[in-house]
Amino acid sequence: MKKPILFCDFDGTITNSDNIVAIMKQFAPPEWETLKDDVLAQRLTVQEGVGKMFSLLPSRLKEEITDFILQTARIRDGFREFVAFTKQHGIPLYVVSGGIDFFVYPLLDGLIEKEFIFCNGSDFSGETIQIVWPYSCNEHCHNGCGCCKPSLLRKLSKPDAFNIVIGDSITDLAAAKLADHVIARDFLLEKCNELSISHTPFTTFFDVIDVLEKMEVRV
Ligand SMILES: [Mg+2]
Ligand SMILES: [Zn+2]
Repeated sequence: MKKPILFCDFDGTITNSDNIVAIMKQFAPPEWETLKDDVLAQRLTVQEGVGKMFSLLPSRLKEEITDFILQTARIRDGFREFVAFTKQHGIPLYVVSGGIDFFVYPLLDGLIEKEFIFCNGSDFSGETIQIVWPYSCNEHCHNGCGCCKPSLLRKLSKPDAFNIVIGDSITDLAAAKLADHVIARDFLLEKCNELSISHTPFTTFFDVIDVLEKMEVRV
């Protein structure tokens, strides 16, 4: 029997909303909206767009931005119970995130061990914030993902694995196409329907626990 491995998105999946958007709305000059539109219209890759957006922000705002996110971001209902469930059943849970280390790590502190978190990095040593990309696309992907979820899925999966992707947006789609099953909300849910990708919808992580309990992939 195949063993489940979970690949879970962060922004808009583990958290209720997107933290990069929240940061830009609060701190960036209006140009960020043009960059966002360019990414959505695929005139810029996610990597280019996110890099340029953060370069609009002065490094001296580091503490203010971090405090803002820690005070405003909300973890989706049932996440703590879901993490406990995966531990109880010995199911590996990787967080694969296009978010940035300075808010992803603190928000997951006490929930997920650092070695199971894959996200982008940051450098505050210059005038403006620079994003660092430890997990950019490999030879199989040319999307300019920034944090390349399909590359990470290929790297972290096992030959006997039943790969499950949990996510919400366009940035999860390439990994979703490689998955054996997808647990989806929002835009990713629409895409899974449209492309007939095997999936189940979710709203809270209690729903995700339900899905895993009903699947015949429990260990
Ligand atoms: Mg997301
Ligand atoms: Zn990629």
